[in-house]
Amino acid sequence: MKRIHNARHPAEAHLICGLLQSCGIAAVVRGEWLAGGFGELPLDACAVWVTDDRQLDEADRLLRDLLQGRVAAAMTDQRWQCTRCNEFSEGQFTDCWQCGAGRP
Ligand SMILES: [Zn+2]
Repeated sequence: MKRIHNARHPAEAHLICGLLQSCGIAAVVRGEWLAGGFGELPLDACAVWVTDDRQLDEADRLLRDLLQGRVAAAMTDQRWQCTRCNEFSEGQFTDCWQCGAGRP
């Protein structure tokens, strides 16, 4: 089992974990219990782990694609604005990327 991504936010960790899982990667989110609140906690409190080391290379490639915006770009038509901080989040997020408020 190897850590593949340190998330800034539980929502980010779950997004990445879910995308990896949807591509057949055995991924889990760990450390979420440390991130009880949003915003003020250590940035590396939450991480995505790949449970099968043999899938690491594939997971790494998928993650790079994701971080380069290829996945997000396909969902930009679902962009929404946070009612609390007015930050825009991409359609795949159910919580505000910036402040953690739920999608309106
Ligand atoms: Zn917000």
